[in-house]
Amino acid sequence: MSALSRPRPPQEASSLAPDLAILLRKDSSVEPQNLKHLSNAELMTRMKRLAATERKITHVILLHLCEIEERRLYLKDGYDGMYTYLTQGLGYSEAGAYRRLQSARLLRRIPEAAANLENGSLNLSQMTQVQKELQAQTKKGLSLSAERTKDLLKKLENQNSQETQRTLALEFDSPLQTQDRIKPQKDDSIRLETTFTPEQFEDLKQAKSLLSHTCPDGAWNDVIGSLAKDFNKRKLRDVPSGKRESFATSIQNAGPSEKPSHRREHLRIAIKRDLLKKAQNRCEYTDLKTQKRCSSTYQLEVEHIQPLALGGSNSLENLRILCRAHNNHLARQGGLQAGR
Ligand SMILES: [Zn+2]
Repeated sequence: MSALSRPRPPQEASSLAPDLAILLRKDSSVEPQNLKHLSNAELMTRMKRLAATERKITHVILLHLCEIEERRLYLKDGYDGMYTYLTQGLGYSEAGAYRRLQSARLLRRIPEAAANLENGSLNLSQMTQVQKELQAQTKKGLSLSAERTKDLLKKLENQNSQETQRTLALEFDSPLQTQDRIKPQKDDSIRLETTFTPEQFEDLKQAKSLLSHTCPDGAWNDVIGSLAKDFNKRKLRDVPSGKRESFATSIQNAGPSEKPSHRREHLRIAIKRDLLKKAQNRCEYTDLKTQKRCSSTYQLEVEHIQPLALGGSNSLENLRILCRAHNNHLARQGGLQAGR
């Protein structure tokens, strides 16, 4: 059979079919009560496949959007532009529509990026940021060649949002914003924009994780507000900070006159501080199978490796730092057999 006469398989459909089948066939297996019967391993495997399928579908959607935009089909259907078509006609959220539209336009320029979208090394948010920058450059009368855009996308592979922004700022030599901006808003709230040095930002991030018990949402306004409030309270109490003892020395110096409950509290705090240092301020949970360690800095707590109730001790070797989620997870698992 010649290559020409060989029937061409519908490639896109066939590569999507096995996973899409899970979603599309009138199959009761995707109903919530039936998912309950899947084993943990089955559930996780299926989720991985579905995520890959979702990325594949996203890519196909972007290609369709490119074609619709090129033919201006939205006009005939009564929409004044692609954005209105996506939000009003297809029901995407404003942010979702914007991301898809920008990504589709970048994909039209650099079709090779489709492979990155499919394997997950680039996401819609990164594509959107790149396209936004390219548009800004075009407005300035500069334009990035396709080759340089490809190089840029290569650099952005597997970067998180913060890394992506930094790479783009370097690539496009974005001016440094150093001026503070304070803008009163109509509900009397104040919008504050400021710039930190990397060291200051590291300090702030550490304070944020240490405050995650009191500021569980981790919003910067709560964190900075809480730090300021605490600082003011201590300052107004007029205790010179230089005279304040470290926890360690106060424990060493704690005489018999000090109440045992106070001593215990100091000891507890000092131990936690040492454990946090040892754990580099990160949750110490590690999946035994993959060796993936949790990197959470959120609501870190001290956990007994061997629970007290099962004969564990309060010695340092039996203590470690876990995030709230993993502490609860191990508590639910009975604390012993799960990942260490
Ligand atoms: Zn954790």
